[in-house]
Amino acid sequence: MSEGRFFESAEGAAIRCTLCPHQCSIPAGGRGACGVRENRDGALALPYYGYITAIARDPIEKKPLRRFRPGTSILSLGFAGCNLRCPFCQNWRISQINGTAAPGRFLRPEEAIALARADRQIAYTYSEPLIHAEYLIDCMKLARKQGIANVLVTNGCISERAAAEILPLTDAANIDLKCFSEETYAKILGGNLQTVLNFIRMAHEAGVHVEITTLVIPGLNDSDEELDQCAAFIAGLASKNSWSFAPKAKLRGVSALAETPWHLSAYHPDYRWDAPPTDPAALMRAAERARKTLPYVYTGNIGP
Ligand code: SF4
Ligand code: SF4
Repeated sequence: MSEGRFFESAEGAAIRCTLCPHQCSIPAGGRGACGVRENRDGALALPYYGYITAIARDPIEKKPLRRFRPGTSILSLGFAGCNLRCPFCQNWRISQINGTAAPGRFLRPEEAIALARADRQIAYTYSEPLIHAEYLIDCMKLARKQGIANVLVTNGCISERAAAEILPLTDAANIDLKCFSEETYAKILGGNLQTVLNFIRMAHEAGVHVEITTLVIPGLNDSDEELDQCAAFIAGLASKNSWSFAPKAKLRGVSALAETPWHLSAYHPDYRWDAPPTDPAALMRAAERARKTLPYVYTGNIGP
C-alpha cells in the first residue's frame, strides 16, 4: 500500500484530501469521492497505486492529439476511478467505482515505463489519471529520464499545487472543456469550471502542447452561445504549442496566437444519459462556426 501526499489533518480522526476541488474530508477507514484515496490510521493510503484497468497501443490521433507527433503510436494506460460523475461517461465501467473497481492489475512505474520504450511515449488516459497524482509523478519522472514523452488525457479538475508538480513533467495534454457553464459543471458533472480553465492556462504557461476536447451533447452544451464561449476562451490562450504552424493561421486570417486545436466529439447515449446522439450534420456546422475563431477544429466520433 503506497502513501499519498496532497492531504492534511482534518477534524478528529478525519483527513482532508487536497488533490482536487472536492477537498474531501475522509473519515477513518473511509475513501474520498473518487474512491481511490483512503484514510488509513490518519494517513492517506493509495490502495490503487499502479492499478491499471486498461492497456493498449493506440494511434496518437485517438487520444485525440492531432498536432503532436502525428502518425505515431502511443502506449496508453487506464486507471480506476474519477473525481467527476459525468452521467454520459463513455468509460464509466472503469471511471465509476461503486464498491469495487473494474478488473485490472498492478504495474510498478518501472514496469509501465519499460512497456513504453518501443513507442517512446506514454499516455495516462481512459478514466481520470490525475487522481493518481503520486503514481503519475513517479512514472513521469522515470519517463523523462529515459527520453519518453508523457501525455495526459484529463478532465483538468485538480488543485494548483498538484498541477504545478505534474505539468512541468508533461509533454502534451488533451484536456476536456466539457461546457462553459459553472452550473452544469457543479450540478451535473460534479466539477468546477474555473478549476478547469485555470488548469488549461497553467498547462499553456508550462509549455505543454495542449489540445482541447468537448463532447457535444444535444440540449446540454450545444448552443451556439456556449460553444462560442468555449471557442473564445481557447482563442484567448497564448499558445506555446510545439507542433503549431502559426504561418498557416496567419494565411487564414486568424490570430497566430489562436492556434490551440479544438476537438468537437459526437456523443452517443451511454451510462445514465439517454438524449439522442449528436447529429453529425449539426456537429459539422458547429465545427464550421468554430473555424471562424480557431484555425484547428476537428470533429470526432462521426467516422472518417
Ligand atoms: S482526489 Fe478524490 S479524495 Fe481527493 S479531493 Fe478529489 S475526489 Fe476527494
Ligand atoms: S471526467 Fe471523463 S472519465 Fe470522469 S466521469 Fe467524466 S467522462 Fe467519465
